[in-house]
Amino acid sequence: MRDIFNFSAGPAMLPDEVLLQAQTEMLDWQGTGMSIMEFGHRGPEFQRIALQAEADLRELMSIPKNYQVLFIAGGATTQFSMVPMNLFTNNNTADYIDTGIWSKKAINEAKRFGQVNVAATSGQQDHLAFIPREDQWAMNPNAAYLHYTPNETIDGLEFSWVPNTGKVPLVADMTSMILSRPIDVSQFGIIYAGTQKNLGQAGQTVVIIREDLIQDPLPSTPVLYSYKTQAEHHSFYNTPPTYCWYILGLMLQWLKRQGGVQAIYQKNKRNSNKIYSLLDRYPDFYVSRIEPSCRSLMNVMFYLCDEKLTPIFLEEAAAIGLVHLRGHRVSGGVRASMYNAMPEAGADRLAEFMVDFAKMYR
Ligand SMILES: *Cc1c(COP(=O)(O)O)cnc(C)c1O
Repeated sequence: MRDIFNFSAGPAMLPDEVLLQAQTEMLDWQGTGMSIMEFGHRGPEFQRIALQAEADLRELMSIPKNYQVLFIAGGATTQFSMVPMNLFTNNNTADYIDTGIWSKKAINEAKRFGQVNVAATSGQQDHLAFIPREDQWAMNPNAAYLHYTPNETIDGLEFSWVPNTGKVPLVADMTSMILSRPIDVSQFGIIYAGTQKNLGQAGQTVVIIREDLIQDPLPSTPVLYSYKTQAEHHSFYNTPPTYCWYILGLMLQWLKRQGGVQAIYQKNKRNSNKIYSLLDRYPDFYVSRIEPSCRSLMNVMFYLCDEKLTPIFLEEAAAIGLVHLRGHRVSGGVRASMYNAMPEAGADRLAEFMVDFAKMYR
Protein backbone atom coordinates (compact mmCIF):
# COMPACT_ATOMS: atom_id res chain seq x y z
CA MET A 1 0.00 0.00 0.00
CA ARG A 2 1.24 3.45 -0.88
CA ASP A 3 1.13 5.85 2.03
CA ILE A 4 -0.26 8.74 0.04
CA PHE A 5 -3.84 9.76 -0.69
CA ASN A 6 -4.43 11.57 -3.94
CA PHE A 7 -7.51 13.81 -3.85
CA SER A 8 -7.07 15.00 -7.43
CA ALA A 9 -10.26 15.72 -9.38
CA GLY A 10 -8.84 13.94 -12.42
CA PRO A 11 -6.93 12.12 -13.65
CA ALA A 12 -7.64 10.56 -10.31
CA MET A 13 -6.13 7.92 -8.08
CA LEU A 14 -6.40 4.27 -9.03
CA PRO A 15 -6.57 1.37 -6.57
CA ASP A 16 -3.17 -0.13 -5.75
CA GLU A 17 -4.59 -3.52 -6.71
CA VAL A 18 -5.33 -2.33 -10.23
CA LEU A 19 -1.92 -0.74 -10.71
CA LEU A 20 -0.16 -3.79 -9.33
CA GLN A 21 -2.08 -6.12 -11.63
CA ALA A 22 -1.16 -3.92 -14.60
CA GLN A 23 2.46 -4.00 -13.44
CA THR A 24 2.51 -7.77 -13.03
CA GLU A 25 1.04 -8.23 -16.50
CA MET A 26 3.10 -5.52 -18.18
CA LEU A 27 5.68 -7.75 -19.90
CA ASP A 28 3.67 -10.93 -20.05
CA TRP A 29 -0.09 -10.78 -20.36
CA GLN A 30 -1.54 -14.13 -19.24
CA GLY A 31 1.36 -16.29 -20.30
CA THR A 32 1.57 -14.92 -23.85
CA GLY A 33 5.01 -13.39 -23.40
CA MET A 34 3.63 -10.08 -24.73
CA SER A 35 2.26 -6.91 -23.21
CA ILE A 36 -1.45 -6.36 -23.85
CA MET A 37 -0.32 -3.04 -25.38
CA GLU A 38 1.36 -4.99 -28.17
CA PHE A 39 -1.66 -7.01 -29.29
CA GLY A 40 -3.67 -6.17 -32.39
CA HIS A 41 -7.03 -4.72 -31.48
CA ARG A 42 -8.92 -7.17 -33.72
CA GLY A 43 -7.16 -10.26 -32.42
CA PRO A 44 -8.86 -12.70 -30.03
CA GLU A 45 -6.78 -11.57 -27.02
CA PHE A 46 -7.83 -7.94 -27.09
CA GLN A 47 -11.36 -8.79 -28.21
CA ARG A 48 -11.70 -10.82 -25.04
CA ILE A 49 -10.72 -7.78 -22.95
CA ALA A 50 -13.12 -5.50 -24.82
CA LEU A 51 -16.07 -7.88 -24.53
CA GLN A 52 -15.39 -8.61 -20.86
CA ALA A 53 -15.27 -4.87 -20.03
CA GLU A 54 -18.60 -4.34 -21.74
CA ALA A 55 -20.15 -7.35 -19.98
CA ASP A 56 -18.87 -6.14 -16.60
CA LEU A 57 -20.17 -2.61 -17.15
CA ARG A 58 -23.56 -4.00 -18.23
CA GLU A 59 -23.69 -6.14 -15.12
CA LEU A 60 -22.58 -3.39 -12.71
CA MET A 61 -25.08 -0.85 -14.10
CA SER A 62 -27.84 -3.32 -15.11
CA ILE A 63 -27.82 -1.80 -18.58
CA PRO A 64 -30.98 -2.87 -20.46
CA LYS A 65 -30.68 -4.79 -23.74
CA ASN A 66 -31.94 -1.91 -25.87
CA TYR A 67 -28.87 0.18 -25.00
CA GLN A 68 -25.52 -0.04 -26.74
CA VAL A 69 -22.24 0.64 -25.00
CA LEU A 70 -19.66 2.52 -27.08
CA PHE A 71 -16.01 3.02 -26.14
CA ILE A 72 -14.84 6.17 -27.83
CA ALA A 73 -11.36 7.68 -27.94
CA GLY A 74 -11.04 11.16 -26.50
CA GLY A 75 -12.34 12.83 -23.35
CA ALA A 76 -15.82 13.71 -22.22
CA THR A 77 -15.41 16.99 -24.11
CA THR A 78 -15.66 14.98 -27.33
CA GLN A 79 -19.25 14.22 -26.33
CA PHE A 80 -20.07 17.91 -26.04
CA SER A 81 -19.80 17.83 -29.87
CA MET A 82 -20.99 14.30 -30.60
CA VAL A 83 -24.29 14.67 -28.76
CA PRO A 84 -25.58 17.60 -30.87
CA MET A 85 -24.03 16.30 -34.09
CA ASN A 86 -25.89 13.03 -33.69
CA LEU A 87 -29.15 14.15 -32.10
CA PHE A 88 -29.81 17.39 -34.04
CA THR A 89 -31.21 15.50 -36.97
CA ASN A 90 -34.97 16.03 -37.30
CA ASN A 91 -34.96 18.99 -34.96
CA ASN A 92 -32.00 21.15 -33.97
CA THR A 93 -33.13 22.63 -30.67
CA ALA A 94 -32.12 21.23 -27.30
CA ASP A 95 -32.61 22.06 -23.63
CA TYR A 96 -29.55 22.39 -21.41
CA ILE A 97 -29.35 22.77 -17.63
CA ASP A 98 -26.49 25.03 -16.60
CA THR A 99 -25.11 24.12 -13.19
CA GLY A 100 -21.46 25.06 -13.69
CA ILE A 101 -18.39 25.10 -15.83
CA TRP A 102 -18.82 21.71 -17.53
CA SER A 103 -22.45 22.48 -18.35
CA LYS A 104 -21.39 25.80 -19.88
CA LYS A 105 -18.76 24.12 -22.03
CA ALA A 106 -21.36 21.65 -23.30
CA ILE A 107 -23.77 24.52 -24.01
CA ASN A 108 -21.20 26.54 -25.95
CA GLU A 109 -20.33 23.57 -28.10
CA ALA A 110 -23.97 22.66 -28.83
CA LYS A 111 -24.62 26.25 -29.99
CA ARG A 112 -22.33 25.59 -32.94
CA PHE A 113 -24.80 23.02 -34.26
CA GLY A 114 -28.24 24.33 -33.37
CA GLN A 115 -30.39 26.25 -30.96
CA VAL A 116 -29.82 25.88 -27.24
CA ASN A 117 -32.47 26.72 -24.66
CA VAL A 118 -30.96 27.01 -21.20
CA ALA A 119 -33.97 25.66 -19.32
CA ALA A 120 -32.51 26.30 -15.84
CA THR A 121 -29.38 27.69 -14.20
CA SER A 122 -27.98 27.01 -10.74
CA GLY A 123 -28.50 29.92 -8.37
CA GLN A 124 -27.38 31.36 -5.04
CA GLN A 125 -29.46 31.61 -1.89
CA ASP A 126 -28.01 32.83 1.42
CA HIS A 127 -24.49 32.44 -0.09
CA LEU A 128 -25.21 28.81 -0.96
CA ALA A 129 -25.30 27.43 -4.50
CA PHE A 130 -28.36 25.35 -5.34
CA ILE A 131 -30.01 23.59 -8.27
CA PRO A 132 -33.51 24.92 -9.05
CA ARG A 133 -36.40 22.50 -8.65
CA GLU A 134 -37.63 20.91 -11.83
CA ASP A 135 -41.07 22.55 -11.69
CA GLN A 136 -39.24 25.86 -12.22
CA TRP A 137 -37.48 24.76 -15.42
CA ALA A 138 -38.49 26.26 -18.77
CA MET A 139 -38.43 23.02 -20.72
CA ASN A 140 -39.31 22.76 -24.40
CA PRO A 141 -41.51 19.68 -24.92
CA ASN A 142 -40.25 19.44 -28.52
CA ALA A 143 -36.54 19.58 -27.72
CA ALA A 144 -34.35 16.99 -29.43
CA TYR A 145 -32.96 16.20 -25.96
CA LEU A 146 -32.24 17.67 -22.53
CA HIS A 147 -28.61 17.72 -21.41
CA TYR A 148 -27.45 18.04 -17.82
CA THR A 149 -24.41 17.41 -15.63
CA PRO A 150 -25.48 15.28 -12.64
CA ASN A 151 -22.30 16.18 -10.76
CA GLU A 152 -20.44 19.42 -11.41
CA THR A 153 -16.89 18.43 -10.56
CA ILE A 154 -15.42 21.90 -10.03
CA ASP A 155 -17.91 23.36 -7.56
CA GLY A 156 -19.04 20.04 -6.08
CA LEU A 157 -22.70 20.58 -6.94
CA GLU A 158 -24.68 17.38 -7.47
CA PHE A 159 -28.26 16.52 -8.37
CA SER A 160 -29.92 14.32 -5.77
CA TRP A 161 -32.62 13.34 -8.28
CA VAL A 162 -32.97 12.41 -11.94
CA PRO A 163 -34.96 14.87 -14.08
CA ASN A 164 -38.19 13.60 -15.59
CA THR A 165 -38.22 14.85 -19.18
CA GLY A 166 -41.11 12.72 -20.47
CA LYS A 167 -40.59 11.88 -24.14
CA VAL A 168 -37.57 14.16 -24.48
CA PRO A 169 -34.40 12.01 -24.25
CA LEU A 170 -32.30 12.78 -21.20
CA VAL A 171 -28.55 13.12 -21.83
CA ALA A 172 -26.19 13.06 -18.84
CA ASP A 173 -22.49 13.86 -18.53
CA MET A 174 -21.66 11.42 -15.72
CA THR A 175 -17.89 11.81 -15.99
CA SER A 176 -17.34 12.51 -12.31
CA MET A 177 -20.05 10.27 -10.81
CA ILE A 178 -20.57 7.18 -13.00
CA LEU A 179 -20.74 4.02 -10.86
CA SER A 180 -20.54 6.06 -7.65
CA ARG A 181 -24.19 5.39 -6.76
CA PRO A 182 -26.97 3.21 -8.17
CA ILE A 183 -28.91 4.68 -11.10
CA ASP A 184 -31.66 3.39 -13.35
CA VAL A 185 -30.22 3.50 -16.88
CA SER A 186 -33.68 3.26 -18.45
CA GLN A 187 -34.37 6.86 -17.34
CA PHE A 188 -31.70 8.11 -19.75
CA GLY A 189 -31.32 8.44 -23.51
CA ILE A 190 -27.53 8.82 -23.38
CA ILE A 191 -25.06 8.54 -20.50
CA TYR A 192 -21.44 9.41 -21.13
CA ALA A 193 -18.35 9.51 -18.94
CA GLY A 194 -14.68 10.15 -19.56
CA THR A 195 -12.58 7.39 -18.03
CA GLN A 196 -10.06 9.35 -15.92
CA LYS A 197 -12.18 9.81 -12.78
CA ASN A 198 -14.09 6.66 -11.85
CA LEU A 199 -13.18 4.36 -14.73
CA GLY A 200 -9.42 4.29 -15.04
CA GLN A 201 -6.95 6.37 -16.97
CA ALA A 202 -7.43 9.34 -19.32
CA GLY A 203 -8.06 8.84 -23.01
CA GLN A 204 -11.43 7.23 -23.53
CA THR A 205 -15.11 7.89 -22.98
CA VAL A 206 -17.85 5.37 -22.35
CA VAL A 207 -21.17 6.16 -24.05
CA ILE A 208 -24.32 4.25 -23.11
CA ILE A 209 -26.95 5.03 -25.71
CA ARG A 210 -30.54 3.91 -26.25
CA GLU A 211 -30.76 2.22 -29.62
CA ASP A 212 -33.45 4.44 -31.12
CA LEU A 213 -31.10 7.43 -30.71
CA ILE A 214 -28.51 5.89 -33.02
CA GLN A 215 -29.33 7.57 -36.32
CA ASP A 216 -27.61 9.22 -39.27
CA PRO A 217 -25.81 12.28 -37.85
CA LEU A 218 -25.63 15.77 -39.37
CA PRO A 219 -24.11 15.41 -42.86
CA SER A 220 -20.84 17.17 -42.04
CA THR A 221 -20.10 14.92 -39.05
CA PRO A 222 -16.58 13.40 -39.13
CA VAL A 223 -16.82 9.65 -39.45
CA LEU A 224 -15.42 8.89 -35.97
CA TYR A 225 -17.95 11.27 -34.40
CA SER A 226 -20.92 9.29 -35.69
CA TYR A 227 -22.59 7.08 -33.07
CA LYS A 228 -24.00 5.07 -35.96
CA THR A 229 -20.56 4.30 -37.37
CA GLN A 230 -19.19 3.55 -33.92
CA ALA A 231 -22.12 1.26 -33.11
CA GLU A 232 -22.00 -0.57 -36.46
CA HIS A 233 -18.32 -1.28 -35.90
CA HIS A 234 -18.64 -2.10 -32.17
CA SER A 235 -16.25 0.81 -31.44
CA PHE A 236 -13.62 -0.77 -33.72
CA TYR A 237 -13.93 1.45 -36.78
CA ASN A 238 -10.31 2.47 -36.17
CA THR A 239 -7.68 1.51 -33.59
CA PRO A 240 -9.11 2.23 -30.14
CA PRO A 241 -6.89 3.22 -27.18
CA THR A 242 -6.38 -0.41 -26.19
CA TYR A 243 -4.43 0.14 -22.98
CA CYS A 244 -7.12 2.50 -21.61
CA TRP A 245 -9.69 -0.15 -22.37
CA TYR A 246 -7.62 -2.75 -20.56
CA ILE A 247 -7.26 -0.53 -17.45
CA LEU A 248 -10.98 0.23 -17.58
CA GLY A 249 -11.57 -3.53 -17.55
CA LEU A 250 -9.33 -3.95 -14.49
CA MET A 251 -11.22 -1.15 -12.72
CA LEU A 252 -14.59 -2.78 -13.41
CA GLN A 253 -13.36 -6.12 -12.10
CA TRP A 254 -11.99 -4.40 -9.02
CA LEU A 255 -15.37 -2.73 -8.48
CA LYS A 256 -17.12 -6.09 -8.72
CA ARG A 257 -14.74 -7.45 -6.06
CA GLN A 258 -15.70 -4.51 -3.82
CA GLY A 259 -19.31 -5.68 -3.96
CA GLY A 260 -20.51 -3.57 -6.88
CA VAL A 261 -22.19 -0.19 -7.02
CA GLN A 262 -24.38 -0.50 -3.92
CA ALA A 263 -21.39 -1.37 -1.73
CA ILE A 264 -19.17 1.37 -3.17
CA TYR A 265 -22.04 3.86 -2.75
CA GLN A 266 -22.16 3.10 0.98
CA LYS A 267 -18.37 3.58 1.21
CA ASN A 268 -18.60 6.84 -0.79
CA LYS A 269 -21.34 8.14 1.53
CA ARG A 270 -19.26 7.33 4.60
CA ASN A 271 -16.25 9.12 3.06
CA SER A 272 -18.04 12.31 2.11
CA ASN A 273 -20.05 12.42 5.35
CA LYS A 274 -16.81 12.36 7.32
CA ILE A 275 -15.77 15.63 5.69
CA TYR A 276 -19.18 17.33 5.40
CA SER A 277 -19.92 16.66 9.07
CA LEU A 278 -16.69 18.47 9.98
CA LEU A 279 -17.71 21.50 7.93
CA ASP A 280 -20.92 21.54 9.94
CA ARG A 281 -19.03 21.03 13.22
CA TYR A 282 -16.56 23.90 12.64
CA PRO A 283 -18.73 26.49 10.85
CA ASP A 284 -16.57 29.38 12.08
CA PHE A 285 -13.48 27.78 10.55
CA TYR A 286 -14.51 25.78 7.46
CA VAL A 287 -17.29 26.86 5.15
CA SER A 288 -19.29 25.09 2.46
CA ARG A 289 -20.90 27.22 -0.23
CA ILE A 290 -23.28 24.49 -1.40
CA GLU A 291 -26.84 23.98 -0.26
CA PRO A 292 -26.79 20.71 1.79
CA SER A 293 -29.18 18.84 -0.54
CA CYS A 294 -26.87 19.59 -3.51
CA ARG A 295 -23.59 18.51 -1.90
CA SER A 296 -21.51 16.28 -4.13
CA LEU A 297 -20.74 12.72 -3.11
CA MET A 298 -17.49 12.71 -5.10
CA ASN A 299 -16.08 16.26 -4.92
CA VAL A 300 -16.23 17.81 -1.47
CA MET A 301 -15.57 21.50 -1.92
CA PHE A 302 -14.98 23.90 0.96
CA TYR A 303 -13.20 27.07 2.00
CA LEU A 304 -11.33 28.18 5.07
CA CYS A 305 -13.08 31.16 6.64
CA ASP A 306 -9.70 32.85 6.87
CA GLU A 307 -8.54 32.40 3.28
CA LYS A 308 -4.97 33.30 4.23
CA LEU A 309 -4.79 29.90 5.90
CA THR A 310 -5.57 27.99 2.68
CA PRO A 311 -1.95 27.71 1.45
CA ILE A 312 -0.83 26.58 4.91
CA PHE A 313 -3.62 24.02 5.00
CA LEU A 314 -2.58 22.63 1.62
CA GLU A 315 1.09 22.53 2.56
CA GLU A 316 0.58 20.81 5.90
CA ALA A 317 -1.84 18.32 4.34
CA ALA A 318 0.66 17.43 1.62
CA ALA A 319 3.37 16.91 4.26
CA ILE A 320 1.34 14.02 5.71
CA GLY A 321 0.48 12.47 2.34
CA LEU A 322 -2.83 14.21 1.59
CA VAL A 323 -2.12 15.58 -1.87
CA HIS A 324 -3.89 17.50 -4.63
CA LEU A 325 -6.44 19.12 -2.35
CA ARG A 326 -6.17 22.53 -4.01
CA GLY A 327 -9.50 23.74 -5.45
CA HIS A 328 -9.84 24.40 -9.18
CA ARG A 329 -8.03 27.52 -10.40
CA VAL A 330 -11.42 29.15 -11.07
CA SER A 331 -12.99 28.51 -7.66
CA GLY A 332 -10.01 28.44 -5.27
CA GLY A 333 -10.51 26.90 -1.82
CA VAL A 334 -10.05 23.22 -1.04
CA ARG A 335 -11.51 20.33 -2.99
CA ALA A 336 -11.33 16.75 -1.77
CA SER A 337 -12.23 14.53 -4.70
CA MET A 338 -13.02 11.09 -3.35
CA TYR A 339 -13.90 8.84 -6.25
CA ASN A 340 -14.56 5.11 -6.02
CA ALA A 341 -10.86 4.34 -5.56
CA MET A 342 -10.49 6.51 -2.41
CA PRO A 343 -10.31 4.16 0.57
CA GLU A 344 -11.92 5.06 3.88
CA ALA A 345 -8.43 5.43 5.38
CA GLY A 346 -7.94 8.46 3.09
CA ALA A 347 -11.10 10.20 4.28
CA ASP A 348 -10.22 9.30 7.88
CA ARG A 349 -6.78 10.81 7.63
CA LEU A 350 -8.15 13.96 6.02
CA ALA A 351 -10.87 14.30 8.68
CA GLU A 352 -8.31 13.89 11.46
CA PHE A 353 -6.04 16.44 9.86
CA MET A 354 -8.91 18.92 9.51
CA VAL A 355 -9.76 18.64 13.20
CA ASP A 356 -6.11 19.12 14.22
CA PHE A 357 -5.72 22.04 11.85
CA ALA A 358 -8.86 23.76 13.13
CA LYS A 359 -7.75 23.32 16.75
CA MET A 360 -4.30 24.69 15.95
CA TYR A 361 -5.31 27.77 13.97
CA ARG A 362 -8.73 28.68 15.30
C1 LIG B 1 -13.55 16.10 -16.08
C2 LIG B 1 -14.88 16.40 -16.68
C3 LIG B 1 -15.03 16.66 -18.06
C4 LIG B 1 -13.86 16.81 -18.99
O1 LIG B 1 -13.39 15.64 -19.49
P1 LIG B 1 -12.20 15.59 -20.55
O2 LIG B 1 -11.93 14.13 -20.54
O3 LIG B 1 -11.08 16.42 -20.06
O4 LIG B 1 -12.74 16.05 -21.85
C5 LIG B 1 -16.31 16.87 -18.55
N1 LIG B 1 -17.38 16.83 -17.75
C6 LIG B 1 -17.27 16.59 -16.42
C7 LIG B 1 -18.50 16.56 -15.57
C8 LIG B 1 -16.02 16.37 -15.86
O5 LIG B 1 -15.91 16.14 -14.54
